[in-house]
Amino acid sequence: MTIDWAAMERHCRALLPARAVVAAAQELLAYDCDGLTLHRAQPPLVVLPETTEQVAAILRLCHRRGVPFLARGSGTGLSGGALAETEALVIATSRMRSILDVDLANRRITVQPGVINGWVTRAVAGDGFYYAPDPSSQVVCSIGGNVAENSGGVHCLKYGVTSNHVLEMEVVLPDGTVTTLGSGLAETPELDLRGVFIGSEGTLGIATAITLRLLRAPQSVAVLLADFTAMEAAGEAVRLVTAAGVLPAGMEIMDNFTINAVDDLFGRDEYPRDAAAVLLIELDGQEREVTAAVEIAGELCRQAGARTIRRASSEADRALLWKGRKSAFAAVGRITPTYYVQDGVVPRSALPGVLAAIEELSRRYELPVANVFHAGDGNLHPLILYRADEPGVIERVQELGAEILRLCIDAGGSITGEHGVGSDKRCYLDWMFAPDDLATMRLVREAFDPAGLANPGKIFPTPRSCGESARRQVAHRHIKVEHHLPKEAAEVEQRDVESLASLDVF
Ligand SMILES: Cc1cc2nc3c(=O)[nH]c(=O)nc-3n(C[C@H](O)[C@H](O)[C@H](O)COP(=O)(O)OP(=O)(O)OC[C@H]3O[C@@H](n4cnc5c(N)ncnc54)[C@H](O)[C@@H]3O)c2cc1C
Repeated sequence: MTIDWAAMERHCRALLPARAVVAAAQELLAYDCDGLTLHRAQPPLVVLPETTEQVAAILRLCHRRGVPFLARGSGTGLSGGALAETEALVIATSRMRSILDVDLANRRITVQPGVINGWVTRAVAGDGFYYAPDPSSQVVCSIGGNVAENSGGVHCLKYGVTSNHVLEMEVVLPDGTVTTLGSGLAETPELDLRGVFIGSEGTLGIATAITLRLLRAPQSVAVLLADFTAMEAAGEAVRLVTAAGVLPAGMEIMDNFTINAVDDLFGRDEYPRDAAAVLLIELDGQEREVTAAVEIAGELCRQAGARTIRRASSEADRALLWKGRKSAFAAVGRITPTYYVQDGVVPRSALPGVLAAIEELSRRYELPVANVFHAGDGNLHPLILYRADEPGVIERVQELGAEILRLCIDAGGSITGEHGVGSDKRCYLDWMFAPDDLATMRLVREAFDPAGLANPGKIFPTPRSCGESARRQVAHRHIKVEHHLPKEAAEVEQRDVESLASLDVF
């Protein structure tokens, strides 16, 4: 179907405040990719709503005219989720940045989706509270994006990922209906559709208000930095600490390449430059509990072969040690014009073997790979460095990325830990799931979005991008859908179209 984008622009301008529609080619350039710069596609039109009502009006317009759309937060996603690879209206939430309610008595806060992750803690830190999920991109990424990707972060080892911290969401469904998923209460009897929506990468609708759980800031926090002359030893330290029953708030490893990139970025020798790996361990809780855990973790690092162990001496020192880890991607970005971040998961015990295999692959493909990862969760982030102007390099980079994911699956892991599937990994989904599993997931998606307008082409393999295997899956799905989707679904949609058609603006 051909979309009349000039008409769409007119309708959007009628529904939104002045300067909320972006249609000039040079301005649209800013939306041509997310954090995965390997793939680019300029959208035909971008809108910047400020309220739920405006988002709902835009989605009703899209539904009425059969126009695909996708939400965009800060565009830091690393799997192409916010990429308009097929023509779609981009609905950016960057003007939905209000904190709507702070309820300290019940330890919750309600925010618009464009609110930046780090702002949530900033809003309540003075009262001794914080928001636990802390992606390394937390100074720029949005809560809406975190919800869509079910983002993790350094502290998710102990405190859980985004889905463990979202109590309630106001969501606009793809037909423009506004609904609420979840509840501010701890327990409610309904189906957990909140859990279905979180991590659905914008394919089920747009979250327009999110109520988050707040935690009390811990009484005491300690950060240890242990350095090792072999990556295997750092992996062994992670294994020993976990096996001893110590649950750190975070355990992160950086390899030699990343250590030097970070030290260069800040122009100092914060991490030992000759170490094969450094392990950062954060321990938090009551004073006495932390003191004991520091003793145990330090001793176990020594047993694993740590060369030195340093304990951050002050809050500023602690922040400095984490700043290096959280700036790792930026630091690598300084020494290469482009890199491709992978995001695989392996059982912790498989870490040393998988890292050695990645090193071997890096040599074979003649592409440097930097490793920085959430070691406690077994969540790897190999960064493949390349120059986009080298002939044939993109194919090599993608093949290497795929081989790394294959390694993760073969080790009993997953093709994504926290960055989502997006457009980048959809062709690998059938490495993990049988056609029946995929068909069931597609049915859930279709229950929310029968017309397939929300973030089209994402997550699931498509014949256009993934070829024959996807074609077989789609055929499989059609059999299921015809079997299960009641006739009423089509009737409901028809009623919607008729009621919307009566509105003047259309
Ligand atoms: C340097 C760097 C470090 C990173 N570190 C981490 C990390 O430690 N942990 C981690 O998990 N991720 C990390 N990421 C990835 C990324 O920051 C997260 O996935 C983040 O949640 C994306 O948020 P965003 O606002 O940028 O979303 P976008 O990139 O704009 O969008 C991501 C997806 O969310 C959807 N979406 C956005 N808003 C909404 C909404 N309101 N309703 C429904 N769908 C929506 C989009 O359609 C898209 O599919 C990192 C990225 C970078 C660049």
